[in-house]
Amino acid sequence: MPTPVAVLNHYNLQPFNTFGIRAYARQIAFISSVSELDYLRELGLFELEGPLVLGGGSNMLLMNDLDRLVIVNRLKGRTIITQDTETITVRWAAGDSWHQVVMEAIAHGWGGIENLALIPGCIGAAPIQNIGAYGVELKDVFVQAEAYDLRTGEVCTYNLVDCQFGYRESIFKQALKGKVLITSVTLRLSKPGFHQLKLGYGAIQETLETNGVIVSGQVPSINDVAKAVISIRQSKLPDPAVVGNAGSFFKNPEIPQSQFDVLSQAYPTMPHYPAPHGLVKVPAGWLIEQAGMKGYKAGSCGVHDKQALVLVNYGPATGAELIALAELVISNVESKFGIKLTPEVNWIS
Ligand SMILES: Cc1cc2nc3c(=O)[nH]c(=O)nc-3n(C[C@H](O)[C@H](O)[C@H](O)COP(=O)(O)OP(=O)(O)OC[C@H]3O[C@@H](n4cnc5c(N)ncnc54)[C@H](O)[C@@H]3O)c2cc1C
Repeated sequence: MPTPVAVLNHYNLQPFNTFGIRAYARQIAFISSVSELDYLRELGLFELEGPLVLGGGSNMLLMNDLDRLVIVNRLKGRTIITQDTETITVRWAAGDSWHQVVMEAIAHGWGGIENLALIPGCIGAAPIQNIGAYGVELKDVFVQAEAYDLRTGEVCTYNLVDCQFGYRESIFKQALKGKVLITSVTLRLSKPGFHQLKLGYGAIQETLETNGVIVSGQVPSINDVAKAVISIRQSKLPDPAVVGNAGSFFKNPEIPQSQFDVLSQAYPTMPHYPAPHGLVKVPAGWLIEQAGMKGYKAGSCGVHDKQALVLVNYGPATGAELIALAELVISNVESKFGIKLTPEVNWIS
């Protein structure tokens, strides 16, 4: 028997998206069990327009009011699946907070996700764009996700290969977009004595030295690394609780080597990194800054003055205003460099 769950009408989503955009959902349901999803499906609520699944709302731009059902994922709980001397495999329900998962793992001495500390949102959304930071991506520890098919009610399992992870990409943003609700995510983490720390990215090493953690060849703990990542992130990124934002608004573009060779003649200081398939990755924040848009303001929104990759809502900007700003950034960068930025943030209508 499906478990009944309340369906509320005309619901303000402002507190449920980190941009702080005021937009209304025609209907909303807060689900804490798969059986409640069955109930909604049997009511026929998934039949017309597919529902929007909402986690922490930290990677979405609400373009307008949503004339459809919003399902807020509140599935909770952790299960240890298996372990050996070196690793432990743990499944988390999709509604658990990602940062809490990282902190919980560290408290148990489980390594592999410490570089991903302080990323907002729920673990259920982590596979959607294969979250990544400081040289680590979800795919590095990912085992599988379980997902509820919103059309059939079947729960299917997607392993690493099935998920087709790429840079801020997965099958959940492509073929399965809007079709499934991820109900759980399983990770394989390392046990004490078997951690493989990644310290070579960003300012991690430098911060550990400043914090006095790395002295005379001392090996930092996973907790030290997480603390370093947290302090770097707090110094660089605006806190959504203070000013509305959704983190990096654009992906870092990957361009052909030939295009990079031409651009680097004109812009010898252009930062760049090797990307898969012989492409060259260029930081979008640098391109936006060079296009003169760092700190740019348009009404109630703007480009952050310390981190040009982040668009901010000083309040009360609408989705339409933020879209206009994003389009201006894309157009100015394209005019100057011939590179078309693509959004990392999901535009929702
Ligand atoms: C300050 C800040 C810093 C950030 N830093 C990073 C970073 O370093 N690296 C990074 O990768 N991201 C970063 N992000 C982006 C964001 O936190 C992540 O993408 C996060 O995984 C989004 O989780 P969420 O629960 O908020 O997803 P939401 O915003 O609620 O949803 C995002 C998308 O996933 C879909 N979705 C959500 N949950 C499910 C589910 N259970 N099943 C199916 N579909 C679902 C939604 O429908 C939507 O399309 C940052 C964001 C902010 C605000």
